[in-house]
Amino acid sequence: MKNEKYFYLEDGGVLKSVKEFGMKLDEIPNHVFKLHVNAQKNDFALWVEHVFKQKKLADELKTTTNKLESQVIVLKRLLAKKTTKSIKKFKCKKCDKAFTSKVGLSVHDTLAHKKR
Ligand SMILES: [Zn+2]
Repeated sequence: MKNEKYFYLEDGGVLKSVKEFGMKLDEIPNHVFKLHVNAQKNDFALWVEHVFKQKKLADELKTTTNKLESQVIVLKRLLAKKTTKSIKKFKCKKCDKAFTSKVGLSVHDTLAHKKR
């Protein structure tokens, strides 16, 4: 069964995340890339916007139909994200607050979400 969060390439390849997209873009054959990105559409931009809610990245992707340029855009965004995200990487699944440590998160979870 297909996972609707994954991106299924026309040649059978699968991309599971924006990170994977950025890392593997250069391995996708040009003719396959062109099937997804051309003057009429940009499937990757749609995917990034709808599955990952990264509108800004999607908008940037729509500015080019060039594979290498697209990859640079994605990788830049991944790098930019890393510097801000690595500080608070433990995210509460219930309220989306982020914490610097697992202990911080579990303390928060106990205090904020566990009813006594
Ligand atoms: Zn929480």
